[in-house]
Amino acid sequence: MRLQLWFRFQTAVHHGTGYGLAGIVDRSVLRGTDGLPILSGAAIKGKMRHAASLIQRAKLGEEALCGPPEDAWCRDKKSPCLLCCVFGSPLIKGKAIFHDATVIDAQGAIIRDYLEDRQIVFQSPGANVRATTAMSRVLGRAESEHLFTSETIAPEVIFESSIEGPLDADEQLLLTQSAKLLRQFGGGSGRGLGWCEVQVSATPEETQS
Ligand SMILES: [Zn+2]
Repeated sequence: MRLQLWFRFQTAVHHGTGYGLAGIVDRSVLRGTDGLPILSGAAIKGKMRHAASLIQRAKLGEEALCGPPEDAWCRDKKSPCLLCCVFGSPLIKGKAIFHDATVIDAQGAIIRDYLEDRQIVFQSPGANVRATTAMSRVLGRAESEHLFTSETIAPEVIFESSIEGPLDADEQLLLTQSAKLLRQFGGGSGRGLGWCEVQVSATPEETQS
């Protein structure tokens, strides 16, 4: 089955590469092969697991949680806890696959048109600076943070993602509740960046497994 997720931001978001771009910004946002920004599936999974662990702790108490800091993962592979079933552990593979979140189609098309109008080619090395400047104008701005600047994505940009896997009802419910708990994504939370709301909807798989 598949859960569809939409990320809507109230403030600009910085989900970075850890690398800079062409001398314009020290910390650029993560982009897909088409040049548009993405939110990595691995980062979404990390945020969701944290939210899920808060839910499970509230429900079952601290003792019921496995994993860090004690690194006490579920040893019994026949009956791992809900967190291990969904997210996996060093000992077992999780059922849920978290896909990268991409800009929703309608907005992606507008941004691509805008960039094509100006004959900006992302893949051309020489176009990097212009592309970055144009992208900043459409998508956000570079924010200064002490000695560094961070590229951010404007809050108007909506991201779409999905989670797939053979998830049972309890696991789907945990993921849905975790997504609703998610309130911040990306770096700079201390500076008010990345405040978000996540919408979830379940869509049945076309072919039953
Ligand atoms: Zn576990």
